[in-house]
Amino acid sequence: MIQDRVRTAEIAANLADVRTRIGAAAERSGRRPDDVLLVAVSKTHPIEDIVAAMAAGQRDFGENRLEELWTKVEQARSLHLDAIRWHMIGNIQSRKTRDAVGPFVLIHSIDRAKIAARLSRDAEAAGNVMKVLVEVNVSGEASKHGFTPDELLAQAGELLALPGIDVAGLMTMAPFEAEPEATRPVFRALRSLRERLADAYPAGDWNELSMGMTNDFEVAIEEGATIVRIGSAIFGSRNG
Ligand SMILES: *Cc1c(COP(=O)(O)O)cnc(C)c1O
Repeated sequence: MIQDRVRTAEIAANLADVRTRIGAAAERSGRRPDDVLLVAVSKTHPIEDIVAAMAAGQRDFGENRLEELWTKVEQARSLHLDAIRWHMIGNIQSRKTRDAVGPFVLIHSIDRAKIAARLSRDAEAAGNVMKVLVEVNVSGEASKHGFTPDELLAQAGELLALPGIDVAGLMTMAPFEAEPEATRPVFRALRSLRERLADAYPAGDWNELSMGMTNDFEVAIEEGATIVRIGSAIFGSRNG
């Protein structure tokens, strides 16, 4: 594998810039830069870009399609990239839950009870427990996946009882806004839902808030994001 030096330097510079911005936003919210986990979203980009990001210290990577995720898991294995930590951030079809059981540190996108139940069943069969986040459709947009806040408040007990999954918190995607500040109510609503869940289901662990992408991650961090999922600010645009 031949690494392109210009590309490697570009990714390192982008990562440094993103980390600086994450640190500044964390400090504005009274936290330390290390309190926010950066997941580099590598979807559609080649394994060489992941190697470049790892050389710049990045360890957590996210993919939104299981097929591409597994391809990259295999590529990373053959390159002995043992320190890599894989995140599944995209939605899972109900007939594909078995493929979501694997060497992934976190699945961010459990978007309905049926997926949770099937994933739990498949994980149990494999002798595994998958750590997951529950995806919430805060904005109510029809095009977005996820539980509505009311559905989740009603169904969280069922999710917590599933033996093959370990719920660690919530994830959301804000609508794209030309002005990032306009996303703030979405992130604030996810954080307040987390407080309500922690009150209603104190046995659960609701700590993680995966929210914020290239366009809006600073606002998300100010509102309490513990994980941000950033693609284009690190790897460039995916369609041009
Ligand atoms: C692609 C993707 C991201 C990253 O998007 P960017 O705007 O490129 O930062 C984050 N989360 C999910 C679920 C995605 O599919």
